[in-house]
Amino acid sequence: MKNRIFFKLLAVFLIVIAATAATLDVMLGSAWESSLRTEIERNLTQKTQLFAHRVENDRAHSLTEIAAQEALAAGARATIIDASGKVLADSESDPASMENHAARKEFAAALTGQTGKNERRSATLGIPFLYVAVPVSGGAVRLAYPLSDVEAVQAQVNRRLIWGSTIALFLALLIAASASIWTSRRLEHIVDVAVRIEQGDLRARVEDRPLDEIGRVAAAIDKTAGQVERSFAAVRSSQRQLETLLNSMQDAVIAVSSDGLVQWANQPMDRLVPQHTRLNAPVVETIRDPDFLAAVKAATTTKQVKTTRATSIVPGRAFDVTAAPLPDGGAVAVLRDLTETERVEKTRRDFIANVSHELRTPLTSIQGYSETLLDVSSENFGPNREFLEIIRKNAARMARLTEDLLTLARVESGETRFDTEPVPPIELLHDAEESFREIARGQEVDLQIVETNVVETNEDHGSVETLPSVRADREAIHQVFSNLIDNAMKYGRSGGRILLGARPAKRGVEFGVEFYVQDFGAGISSEHLPRLFERFYRVDKARSRESGGTGLGLAIAKHIMLAHGGSIRAESELNHGSTFLFTLPTA
Ligand code: ADP
Repeated sequence: MKNRIFFKLLAVFLIVIAATAATLDVMLGSAWESSLRTEIERNLTQKTQLFAHRVENDRAHSLTEIAAQEALAAGARATIIDASGKVLADSESDPASMENHAARKEFAAALTGQTGKNERRSATLGIPFLYVAVPVSGGAVRLAYPLSDVEAVQAQVNRRLIWGSTIALFLALLIAASASIWTSRRLEHIVDVAVRIEQGDLRARVEDRPLDEIGRVAAAIDKTAGQVERSFAAVRSSQRQLETLLNSMQDAVIAVSSDGLVQWANQPMDRLVPQHTRLNAPVVETIRDPDFLAAVKAATTTKQVKTTRATSIVPGRAFDVTAAPLPDGGAVAVLRDLTETERVEKTRRDFIANVSHELRTPLTSIQGYSETLLDVSSENFGPNREFLEIIRKNAARMARLTEDLLTLARVESGETRFDTEPVPPIELLHDAEESFREIARGQEVDLQIVETNVVETNEDHGSVETLPSVRADREAIHQVFSNLIDNAMKYGRSGGRILLGARPAKRGVEFGVEFYVQDFGAGISSEHLPRLFERFYRVDKARSRESGGTGLGLAIAKHIMLAHGGSIRAESELNHGSTFLFTLPTA
């Protein structure tokens, strides 16, 4: 019901006004009645005293005459009794026929010398009378005033009061009704505005004057609506900025809810899939790539960033997918098109491989002929022999470089197939040590394997646990060891000792075996460590070149390790030697 407040207010006003009118009526009526009675009583007492005075002093008239005259003057019944209560005169009846009046309450009081008063119904006339008796010598006098007149006046007064109250009530109701209408209209307006704001119309305002509490409520609602409108505008603006930013990106972005529905996608994402993204539709309807879906799901459930490579989103194109969890569940995935990058990368690798391959034959021939010339006879050349030597040395260096470049290009491109098999770590260490034993001895370096094969000795059962076999391609790992030991000889020979070893390594949840090559030479300062495995990165260029280095050894080692699912790193401190460590997964 729309006017509920109006009717409530009106009902309250009605009750209050009616109660006030009724209370006023009753109080006014009774106050008026009691003052009238007091007045009559006082009047009658005075008249009775005058009556008594006359009885005492008027010797000219008989008692009966006096009673008749006083009754007439007072408009009341006059009675005179003697001290025994016997009626001596009465204005209405014959005293002889009247009973003894000594027991009448007013007379009883008067006979004891006081003014007696009483109000009661007359036994003879049946109407209420006010009796006042005053003592006289040898008896008492009394005036009796009929109260029926007073009651008639009272009834009339009451009628007028009720009429007056009814008119006042009506007028008050009119005023109350208009006040209620005014108040309820203001409240209804506030309710209407609140409903509009709730439905999203943030520009709705009450605009009431702040005269009273309702006005203040209206002002507070207007102020709150203003603040909400401003905050909403700010949020909308930053949302639009974000959308523009995301749409202008080259990468495709898609947000997925925790139950796998598309929440949002940018324009590049829309262009990527032929069927376009549909909001609130399952993401699997748009992108069916299992790697992408797994990454999104993993990011949602584990709350961690997941990356993967997806190749079946668009046929013939590869994407790098990064899925990050969203704070309120779900995930946002960024898809970077790798096709072009990979194509360029492949072209570069192919080019390097081709160039290296093409250079091989002429270099071998330069090397061969310069060596032949040097072998023929030293006298024939005289001082030119030195030039010939330089040609041979540089041809050899170029051959090494092309060889390393070719190896690196093949490993990187995945062209080189690794035949992995379970190999006991100790065998890999022995292979490496064997092939460098003579060279080390020639350079007076002590090359040894640290006894690491035993992991732990279980004393209770007397058994010995050895390192588990690793999954490795013997040839390739031999190449890694060769590069590392070769470096240790070149740069760490001053330490006079090279240690080879293997130990258990924890890699994520899986176990692996960590191999290391440790030297005690000059070491590498820490700023070089992160870049050491980049191709052509050399700490001391001149020294590397002089010792026949190509700057590719560690890069090759790194790519071989990556192809094995392993990792490689270096630990070193200047003047405290270096340790190169690589980890292979267990078989
Ligand atoms: P290079 O053919 O120059 O030896 P690498 O890739 O094998 O190329 O090594 C890169 C650089 O790392 C080297 O030039 C050298 O400065 C540094 N390096 C490698 N191993 C060691 C080591 N054991 N001690 C000190 N420096 C080293």
